[in-house]
Amino acid sequence: MKCDRCENPPAYTRKYSGEKLCSQCFSKSIVKKTAKTISKYKMIKHNELVAVAVSGGKDSLALLKVIHEMSLTHSFRIKVITIDEGIPGYRNEALEIVKKVCNELNVEYKIYSYKDLFELTLDEALDLRENEKTSSCSMCGTFRRRAMDYAAKDIGADLIATGHNLDDTLQTFVINMLSGDTTKVGWMNPDTATNSLRKIKPFCEIYESEIVFYAFTNNLPFQSEPCPHMNEGIRTDIREFLNSLENQRSGIKNNLYQSIIKVSEVMKSSDSNSKNKTNCEKCGSECTGKICSVCTMVLKLKSNQT
Ligand code: SF4
Ligand code: ZN
Repeated sequence: MKCDRCENPPAYTRKYSGEKLCSQCFSKSIVKKTAKTISKYKMIKHNELVAVAVSGGKDSLALLKVIHEMSLTHSFRIKVITIDEGIPGYRNEALEIVKKVCNELNVEYKIYSYKDLFELTLDEALDLRENEKTSSCSMCGTFRRRAMDYAAKDIGADLIATGHNLDDTLQTFVINMLSGDTTKVGWMNPDTATNSLRKIKPFCEIYESEIVFYAFTNNLPFQSEPCPHMNEGIRTDIREFLNSLENQRSGIKNNLYQSIIKVSEVMKSSDSNSKNKTNCEKCGSECTGKICSVCTMVLKLKSNQT
């Protein structure tokens, strides 16, 4: 048996298309597919500086490798930002991996910690929360979004690229639908032309299984230790459900993705008319009330401290 594109033996079969590819042709196809997504949604413009958010997991390291390769032949620049939540014993391994890969690729990187930005590590914040119903990951996610915005502005970036893949998008969509949150569906649209600091997901049209194989075949070191706070709950169930559907009917994830794009476009245009955006009185970030959700959360936690 041969690779569909060269004489080498095949290493990967794309079930939904029937393509058989060797490692090199597979890797090239991932770079090409990412470039296609970036150009389709006009994600990066001429001369822009992209802040690549790298956590040390497989998705973000794969994104760094792909986007670094593209930056060598395109007119945009990249720098890496990494967020340190302050989770003892977990983040250290990841930070070492990020440093190593950035040094190998000769890419500048900068680490930003919750402690510096919010005066609280994640573990300290979790100890201060009153309501145990706020899950670790939702609190962490709120901090992370703000930390990434801060980091990207700090390095002078025009946009932030994250390693979210197609499976992440599908899972988030189903979670939003199951919780009745249709506004968030509008935010999922990859066409991000309206925001001041754009967020892009160049892997949003690539299956998670292909990113895993890309990371494996390119020998990317990635973090093995899971976060001690991880409790994915419903996301794990939805991942397994979608994987089992895909196993029986190849291509079903691609179909669902196409539907999400159409639905999110409709939701986005109805949402953008409905809310008046103002600026937070504390930090100046865009929000819909007087004080943004991050400042509200930090103030609340600190009032519990005394
Ligand atoms: Fe934060 Fe949850 Fe990720 Fe841990 S698993 S780093 S708590 S979002
Ligand atoms: Zn604020």
